[in-house]
Amino acid sequence: MHYPEPISKLIDSFMKLPGIGPKTAARLAFFVLTMKEDTVLSFAKALVDAKRNLTYCSVCGHITDVDPCHICQDKQRDASTICVVQDPKDVIAMEKMRDYHGLYHVLHGAISPMDGIGPEDINVPTLLKRLQDDQVQELILATNPTIEGEATAMYISRLVKPSGIRTTRIAHGLPVGGDLEYADEVTLSKALEGRREL
Ligand SMILES: [Zn+2]
Repeated sequence: MHYPEPISKLIDSFMKLPGIGPKTAARLAFFVLTMKEDTVLSFAKALVDAKRNLTYCSVCGHITDVDPCHICQDKQRDASTICVVQDPKDVIAMEKMRDYHGLYHVLHGAISPMDGIGPEDINVPTLLKRLQDDQVQELILATNPTIEGEATAMYISRLVKPSGIRTTRIAHGLPVGGDLEYADEVTLSKALEGRREL
């Protein structure tokens, strides 16, 4: 199919998004043509603003528009517990549950020797630095229930054990191979409650 260039450019742009194939991209592109110009402009602005105004928290690695992020700055939160997750979306899933009041640490990935991803390639060094603060008593390892997620949890647990900080792993009510972000709130809450010592 041959489209006028502006349309094929728009289709190509939509196809850069995860889960969007050529058909869906074409459908979205043609839908944009039917939208009001104002709406299209504010949509485009929202994309650019999100990219420009969001950064990663220098303490926990979560996405934020202020540094440190609102969670790290919140004095009401329990600074003795840090929940370690792979992705900022996992923080959002945990926060939706409302049962957790500690802090977070976002790794931005998992250790995967097959893909050449080692501890230094994800946010592990910053975690170790944080743990030197003697407030931290428990590290909840909430990496995904995948081979990489498990390996990462084991690695961090072994590294941290000698310091006397308690390391726990969230329970597996979670679907195996699934991402934390897709778990519903009840499942996530149970997984947190049933965490076990590592
Ligand atoms: Zn933070």
